[in-house]
Amino acid sequence: MADRVLRVCALYPDLLNIYADRGNLLVLERRCAWRGIGFALTRVGVGDDLDPEAHDLFYLGGGQDRDQRLCAADLQEGVGDRLHEAAARGAVILGVCGGYQLLGHAYALGDEEIPGIGLLDVTTVREDGPRLIGNIAIDVDLPGRPDPGTLAGFENHGGRTRLGPSAQAFGRVLSGHGNDGRSGLEGARSGRVIGTYLHGPLLPKNTWFADWLIETALDDGRPLAPLDDRLEDAAHDTALRAVRR
Ligand code: GLN
Repeated sequence: MADRVLRVCALYPDLLNIYADRGNLLVLERRCAWRGIGFALTRVGVGDDLDPEAHDLFYLGGGQDRDQRLCAADLQEGVGDRLHEAAARGAVILGVCGGYQLLGHAYALGDEEIPGIGLLDVTTVREDGPRLIGNIAIDVDLPGRPDPGTLAGFENHGGRTRLGPSAQAFGRVLSGHGNDGRSGLEGARSGRVIGTYLHGPLLPKNTWFADWLIETALDDGRPLAPLDDRLEDAAHDTALRAVRR
């Protein structure tokens, strides 16, 4: 049995999984396995209990509006409170696109408001206008990293997300739309709670960020062993070239 184990909880994996977001979980699993780090994955669906102590990293992927409604209702039934407890004890929480919107206060579509859990001080509104679609690159500053890092991905969202007064953006848009197509800001971060519009999926194109998530979630003061990332770096470079085209 490995002496280090990354315990990951995938929330609503059957509903929030568009754009191959399952690939994010596979990257976490592989990068742990290659280093002899154990990996325990728990899938939590609608109606299931969530133990806030039992996981180091919680993941919510992207979803269609109708599936987000089902998840939002379940989050209001106590699961959102459990996520607040997990965040308070320092767990990493990553929400991608629909998952990001659900980490905020609400996602408004006309007269309807899909409630979020308010872990991030952001609000999303579906305004008139085209969906924000395309390849995207952002620069992000993360705790423990001296220099900004670049993330490449793909976005496709109808919602426009605005930061509230206490929110901090996750990244600066280098190319693409980001939160609302105007502000030049992408995603939001509060401590170890991160929301972003980058699909692609995100982590296979940006393995340095996968490692930041693993190291931050393990939080045991032990750096991760380096891996031979020639293929992964080539995938990152290709994704960045796609953005520039
Ligand atoms: N349904 C949300 C929107 O369109 C999120 C989409 C997604 O997760 N790709 O804004």
